[in-house]
Amino acid sequence: MPDPIGDVDIASASDMPQHAATINQVVGTYQTTFPGGTAALSGLLTQIGLVGKCLAHDLRRAGLLNILGSTGATNVQGEVVKKLDEIANATFVRVLRPSGLVCALASEEMARPLILSDGTTSGSYMVLFDPLDGSSNTDVNMPLGSVFSIVMHRQAGRRPDEGDLVRKGTEQIAAGYLFFGASTILVYTAGQGVRGFTLDPGIGEYLLSHEAITIPARGKVYAANEGNALKWSEGMRKYFDYLKVQDKATGRPYSTRYSGCLVADVHRMLLGGGIYLYPSELDKPEGKIRLLYEANPLAMVVEQAGGRASTGTMRILDVEAKTLHQRVPLIIGSRDDVIKAEEYIQGRA
Ligand code: MN
Ligand code: MN
Repeated sequence: MPDPIGDVDIASASDMPQHAATINQVVGTYQTTFPGGTAALSGLLTQIGLVGKCLAHDLRRAGLLNILGSTGATNVQGEVVKKLDEIANATFVRVLRPSGLVCALASEEMARPLILSDGTTSGSYMVLFDPLDGSSNTDVNMPLGSVFSIVMHRQAGRRPDEGDLVRKGTEQIAAGYLFFGASTILVYTAGQGVRGFTLDPGIGEYLLSHEAITIPARGKVYAANEGNALKWSEGMRKYFDYLKVQDKATGRPYSTRYSGCLVADVHRMLLGGGIYLYPSELDKPEGKIRLLYEANPLAMVVEQAGGRASTGTMRILDVEAKTLHQRVPLIIGSRDDVIKAEEYIQGRA
């Protein structure tokens, strides 16, 4: 009788590391609840993972393709749009539209939301996204990201309108990001902890690489565009002075790490602790970060990991969303670091 497993030595095979878990397996193992069912969550994350594979493929060749530089057009935020922004946006739409799970899409790159269907019970999710975060980094081969936020249509069967997408952060049922660094990483939360997957490009599969991510209560690193310091409030400037003071007990001075890609900076804080700040500016009190596409989803992830996300005066997830492209000041990261920054911003320190 031939041995059914051939030449495999069972003793040494059992010593081999377990095959890492896929998105599907992880959702099945850790996610006990999700509105509309955990199978739908698995489906949504798989589709977003596919977007990540497509974008990683494009970005790897970005220096070779004639897709760098600006199109000359400006997006709804008044910024010059890089071609890759449009490619990334089109990729999200192309992948999510036929998924059957999504009834509406909203993006930083689209002035109006894209309504796909009336929203049946199986397809009543809505996805809001920043298709390419840190897009000016494409010209210099630096990290990039994509951010996504998932909410549910309140009334399946009624055609959603723009107002249905303008929702408070606490109404998100899942959120996360894709991070294109040395590896492609997908991080998500659906309200039961934060998990990260790394794309194995050889087999085209995301494998669980970061289980139950928790952010340290305080870090040693800050990320901010300090070139804007003269536009900040006095309290904000004082906080940055505080970060630079030598004090062994609190680990100061902090180090600066700023990449120009919000996702990359938040990813660093999520794993190692620290604080990211894009505060309000004297002539731009609303700051720069988009509430629905960036601040809300990253706040959900960071809070789920035990961190904190604030405007400086209130919790990001409690900010009343009024318009699709609304901006908000963002202070996000380790809990104690964000609390300290709030004290300075509010003039209590
Ligand atoms: Mn962005
Ligand atoms: Mn963008």
